[in-house]
Amino acid sequence: MARTLIDAGHETWCVGGAVRDALLGLAHLDWDLATAATPAQVRRLFARTIPVGLEFGTVGVLDREGRMHEVTTFRRDVKTDGRHAVVEFGASLDEDLARRDFTINAIAYDPIGRRLHDPFDGQGDLRRGVVRAVGAAEARMREDRLRALRAIRFAARFDFAIEQATWIAIVDSAPHLTRLSPERVKQELEKTMEQVQAPSVALRRWRDSGAFHALIPALSDVPDALLRAVDCVPRPGPAGRPLRKPLRFALLFSGLDGQQVERQLRALRFSNLDIASVSGLVDRWHRLGSALTTTLQSGTVPPDAELRRLAANVGRLHVGGFLRLCAARWAGNEAVRPAQWRALHRRLLGIAFRDPIAIADLAIDGDDLRQIGVQPGPAFGRILQGLLEHVLIDPTRNDRAILLSQARTLAASEA
Ligand code: ATP
Ligand code: MG
Repeated sequence: MARTLIDAGHETWCVGGAVRDALLGLAHLDWDLATAATPAQVRRLFARTIPVGLEFGTVGVLDREGRMHEVTTFRRDVKTDGRHAVVEFGASLDEDLARRDFTINAIAYDPIGRRLHDPFDGQGDLRRGVVRAVGAAEARMREDRLRALRAIRFAARFDFAIEQATWIAIVDSAPHLTRLSPERVKQELEKTMEQVQAPSVALRRWRDSGAFHALIPALSDVPDALLRAVDCVPRPGPAGRPLRKPLRFALLFSGLDGQQVERQLRALRFSNLDIASVSGLVDRWHRLGSALTTTLQSGTVPPDAELRRLAANVGRLHVGGFLRLCAARWAGNEAVRPAQWRALHRRLLGIAFRDPIAIADLAIDGDDLRQIGVQPGPAFGRILQGLLEHVLIDPTRNDRAILLSQARTLAASEA
């Protein structure tokens, strides 16, 4: 791809995250190119292109495997407003690298001549493990406030330090982060949860820089213990483990109540589905997890009947997520012994998937109630609930004859 451009007489370099990741020894699939060719010239040279962001000079080019690579014309910023830049083409490679955010992201590689071009010593910073703004940090963050959040994410992702002037510029940026759209903020938080092995480092910096204070005030003073709990859930990874991301968010927000969580996530434009799953996790933690913590801390493990009631309240399909959230919250709690929660984990899962814990599991149903003369209405639900209570105490009572007789008793007391 680079050769096609070069053979046509256009200077072309690999740039951005792929060069950085290759130098770090990490795999990175999409190689982005920066070229002297204009977007129109790029589109003429390749059969399959996608106009990704023509006003910024970016054309997507599909390779033989159908993977898209971004080919971007060398550009310089002519105007910035804290997020959006107006760019101008006809720039040199050096000008293009100078507008990039961090030195580690501003290294170019010539794939034909096999040499690096690294005017800001990005390689030195990769070796030293430092995230450093290209040029004057304060001015660069003022051009684009998103860079403050990006710096925090890259540092946590590679376990790098943040160079001092860059950190000061991040702290100075914090009050201005409200300029960013909620979608952008959400995207940065999500990328942090997805990409970073131990997000607590990044989240602590969101807190300590004042970014939380500006963007999610309810997390201004989020305690370290909760941030460490987030680290206990592995990142989602390419295999796509759908529960991991909501679990990480639920732990971050688990100091707030379910309604507050819902409000915060809505403000950040999370989807209804995500809001329901995160606030549901948090809500179950407050309703049921906290009490369980107290029980375990007292050195006891609840008896089966109590665990059945717990499983019924949590809901069979939510027991797995609930247990993982509890485990993460307990990881930093010395009063809850690992052996204790492993036993609890095993028993609760067993109960949830073996014992009758929902009305649908009962050996009789609504038709049976009608047949013994119970009229449909509010009493109907109360009787079924009463039968479930009966069965939660002792699952051997989930027997047609026993339940019918119990139902008659309950119906009589309703009358
Ligand atoms: P990732 O692996 O997360 O995609 P990346 O470095 O490829 O990391 P992108 O957001 O894909 O990050 O951006 C590609 C490149 O574009 C960056 O490496 C950087 O050089 C430049 N860049 C991206 N966003 C900005 C920004 N806000 N300001 C300046 N340069 C940026
Ligand atoms: Mg990228």
